[in-house]
Amino acid sequence: MSKRKGSDKSKMDISPSKESRKSVTEQDTIQEFGDHETSGKAYIWLAAAVAIGLASASYYLSSYLTSGGIPQTPVSVTAVPESYAVCGDTQGIIYTVDDAHPNVDCLLIHKDEIRVAGTADDINTYWEQYQNEVIKKFYGNEPKAKKSLSTVHLKPGSIIVPGLADAHAHLLLYGFKVQLPLDNAGSLEEILDILEDYVNEHPELLEDPNTWVEGMGWDQTRWKDWSGEFPTAAHLASRKSLESLPISLSRVDGHALWVSPRVLELTKEQLPGQKWPSSEEVNGGEIVRDSTGNPTGVFVDNAMSLVHAPAWSFERRSSYLETATQDALKYGLTSVHDAGSTLDFIEVFQSFAEEGQLPIRIYAMGNSDNTSYWGDSIPRLEDYGQDERLNLKSVKLYTDGALGSWGAALLEPYSDRPDTSGIMRISPESLEDLVKKFWEDGWGINIHCIGDRANKVVLDVFETVLTEESEKTGEDIQAVAARRRPRIEHAQIMREGDLQRAGRLGVITSVQPTHATSDMWYAETRLGPKRIKGAYAYQTLLQSSPNKILPLGSDFPVEGINPLLGFYAAVSRLDVHGESPHGSDGWYSSEKLTRAQALKGMTLDAAYAAFAEDRLGSLVPGKKADYVVLNRNIMSEDTPVHEILGTVVQATVVDGRIAYGGI
Ligand SMILES: [Zn+2]
Repeated sequence: MSKRKGSDKSKMDISPSKESRKSVTEQDTIQEFGDHETSGKAYIWLAAAVAIGLASASYYLSSYLTSGGIPQTPVSVTAVPESYAVCGDTQGIIYTVDDAHPNVDCLLIHKDEIRVAGTADDINTYWEQYQNEVIKKFYGNEPKAKKSLSTVHLKPGSIIVPGLADAHAHLLLYGFKVQLPLDNAGSLEEILDILEDYVNEHPELLEDPNTWVEGMGWDQTRWKDWSGEFPTAAHLASRKSLESLPISLSRVDGHALWVSPRVLELTKEQLPGQKWPSSEEVNGGEIVRDSTGNPTGVFVDNAMSLVHAPAWSFERRSSYLETATQDALKYGLTSVHDAGSTLDFIEVFQSFAEEGQLPIRIYAMGNSDNTSYWGDSIPRLEDYGQDERLNLKSVKLYTDGALGSWGAALLEPYSDRPDTSGIMRISPESLEDLVKKFWEDGWGINIHCIGDRANKVVLDVFETVLTEESEKTGEDIQAVAARRRPRIEHAQIMREGDLQRAGRLGVITSVQPTHATSDMWYAETRLGPKRIKGAYAYQTLLQSSPNKILPLGSDFPVEGINPLLGFYAAVSRLDVHGESPHGSDGWYSSEKLTRAQALKGMTLDAAYAAFAEDRLGSLVPGKKADYVVLNRNIMSEDTPVHEILGTVVQATVVDGRIAYGGI
């Protein structure tokens, strides 16, 4: 049973502070856009002489493809011809997320595009006309030259939904996390066992002192026989094999670093005068200290930027991206919004895109450190790369901390800690300045907001910017918002009036349903019975949106990468054990989404939030043929919610080609 209390699941922050930027060196893990010297270099890459082809050159037809519509042996099709049809086992089993035709029987795909979404008759009529044109044009009207249509038939029980999108996630951090996962450890001893195994499997760590052991996912609130306090460097040195190693472990929420004595040494050596800063000198963060004032080995929030792990090599970043995109495909994700792409992450995205090696679509939000403006010096990327799968046209900014660590900025003090109202990491004035600059240069704006104060401040800023633009152009405010699509990421705790105001302004609220079900065991203790009503209020947010847009994401690797976890959380408001503080009907069950709403949130609404609804997000003629074959009908109310989690992706199709599995 994992009832995480006190673990904040709502914020990944990977931007170093201004202070740390001053000392950006080759050793830094994260480069910022504002770092012009490195950005120049970053855009020069050697193009690989030969791109390693995907399976595109070797289509074959398995025996399960038929020309007459009768399935033969049930062998999965893993590659498809240039034109083909795919049909369900029963009628209406293809869920299109198109209001005009929500359920169809068949799709006809040509190259990367959907040509027909309709009945078997519809696709046959289309194909006949198409062949007539072909023979007229190229074969002197010879009927024998007509080709029959190859049709793939879904296995019984399977359904098709549009390619799934995660509207808020962190691709490279996911790849990073899975190489040394710590989130399943139930005790300190288990953490140490995992580390020892890892070190044994990586003997090179002992040879190269510049390689650190880096991992992510520990959560001391879940350890057995543990009082809940942070662990220390001494714990990491308590095993002989780990004693001298540089070890740096990020907490599950990405908001604390737990390091070994060797890292403390290395960190201190790099400090001015080799002296630890005082508590007052660490703004928006904390160095955890013992009774004598010495650091114990845990750095929280902004203090984390004092620790400079060696920069991740290009190869390492590439392998993290590779892992993340392959796992994404496995779970039916065809598109991911990367919520805070630093320059060195973009470099990898761009390189993969140029070489046709990006198997999914990435909508990158350029990471801002909240202090410097880079919008006039970084080129926007529009449908970039061989397969046009990379976009970079928006920025990610940050306002506050997280609920679990009392860092979410609230308008009133915390219910369980009246001495604090959380942390604003940027002043409203500075935020407005920065937003205006990005806005004026045409960038999309996405801002991390957890607490009701953060959400209020950001809505104030958006209201100002939208009103000014509306006065300039004569459009109404919602029309401006529909054109520029300002987004609040998380929109986690909002006053009732602000829930409505977001809608009135047309500001998109991008939410993560699994945060609700991870936080529900402690959120009300933090917020009290009144404020909780405006927290994780997904149905209210959806209803207040003028065009009913509510993009859904996961924030992986903070939560799991499987989008069905989010779908399940959204429609059930239950944890994976089927429980909630309000019983089996779900936590604040009136905020549940319907299955259709949830599917739209992870397809068409996510596409809208990425300016891509004309090409992606629903299965209609003219759009990209991105779709997923699931082995169960998660859209039918006859399928109990707990069965959603056992649903398996049979195939993930991107641009009409099977990128994972088989149909
Ligand atoms: Zn995030």
